[in-house]
Amino acid sequence: MERIDSVVIGAGVIGLAVARELARAGREVIVVEATDAIGTVTSARNSEVVHAGIYYPPGSLKARLCVTGRERLYEYCAGHGVAHRRCGKLIVATGNDQLGDLARLEAQARANGVDDLVPLDVPAIAALEPALSCIAALHSPSTGIIDSHQYMLALEGDARDAGAVFAFGSPVVGGDVMGDGIGLVVGGAEPMTLCARSVVNCAGHDAPRVARSIAGLPGVSIPRAHLCKGNYFRLKGRSPFSRLIYPVPEAAGLGVHVTLDLGGQARFGPDVEWVEAIDYAVDPARAERFYPAIRRYWPALPDGALVPDYAGIRPKIQAPGDAARDFVIDGPREHGVAGLVNLFGIESPGLTASLAIAEYAVGKLRESG
Ligand SMILES: Cc1cc2nc3c(=O)[nH]c(=O)nc-3n(C[C@H](O)[C@H](O)[C@H](O)COP(=O)(O)OP(=O)(O)OC[C@H]3O[C@@H](n4cnc5c(N)ncnc54)[C@H](O)[C@@H]3O)c2cc1C
Repeated sequence: MERIDSVVIGAGVIGLAVARELARAGREVIVVEATDAIGTVTSARNSEVVHAGIYYPPGSLKARLCVTGRERLYEYCAGHGVAHRRCGKLIVATGNDQLGDLARLEAQARANGVDDLVPLDVPAIAALEPALSCIAALHSPSTGIIDSHQYMLALEGDARDAGAVFAFGSPVVGGDVMGDGIGLVVGGAEPMTLCARSVVNCAGHDAPRVARSIAGLPGVSIPRAHLCKGNYFRLKGRSPFSRLIYPVPEAAGLGVHVTLDLGGQARFGPDVEWVEAIDYAVDPARAERFYPAIRRYWPALPDGALVPDYAGIRPKIQAPGDAARDFVIDGPREHGVAGLVNLFGIESPGLTASLAIAEYAVGKLRESG
């Protein structure tokens, strides 16, 4: 059994940020990743939006880590040449019944420390986004977009520069809480067993299963994983908008919204589809639900303009219909095992919050059980 100071399980955006944080603190780090590359799962299948921090209950980890993570992310991108743009976004009310939702969002945002939202009336909206049809909007100037792959490559580079080592094709298949650390059984072409002083479980969808496979970790602290697919459709032709456009949020998602990539391509989504297994195919028939949802705020959407694009799957830890859960970042104080931190339910705004999540998770390693 090889002894090692710290192991990070998973090389998505969260595992990469955690590995960077640990390595830069002078810790010896090995990142074990089941696939053969960084960032190929949820971190490669999202909207690439830098969220301001509007939607989450005040005081929640999502709210706190999004607001601090967002500013750190912008600074990081500027300092590392990662492509990004603070393009801003509009949250739109299309009927009188939604005006109360906008007011609630504005108050919640302020409670979260997002104090730059600007309410807009119809002439102000028309001046910014002439193609948009709505009766009121909130402008969020600190929302933006980022090239998430460039960002992950930069995180990997920082981690490697600080001494982190990566083992690809190396799935963690089991483990054991031992007296002097945590044993991990790693499968793949070159199986190994490791004994680590610290383990940070950043396995995304698989994090609950990985945690359950560690003998000696109380099962009561491990939530059940649920899969909530989000499908995207791309717009044929030029985007009519230069900012992101979001309707008021709906259950389990943020409504069929418009995001832009850095090349200016518009896409719509993600919608909400609870699934039993991971499958990234986009059913073209789902476009039928997109057209009416989009036409509520963009009536000029032409027939036949939507093309199936890609899908991502939210790693939820609540069942369909249940109340939204916060990020769960459990350390010794929660589960009693020294040196282990599990991250569960790291859905949106995980990309935005990644640097703050890493700092928080590494801080929890120092707790005693
Ligand atoms: C549709 C959608 C839209 C989103 N939009 C946004 C957005 O606009 N802005 C935002 O901030 N966030 C967004 N998110 C959230 C964001 O994408 C995630 O929070 C983030 O990517 C999670 O990263 P991760 O590293 O935890 O997970 P992942 O990227 O899934 O990485 C987990 C890694 O662990 C590896 N792994 C799994 N099991 C094992 C094992 N047993 N052993 C070793 N390795 C293992 C996997 O192969 C994978 O590489 C969105 C998410 C979805 C689904």
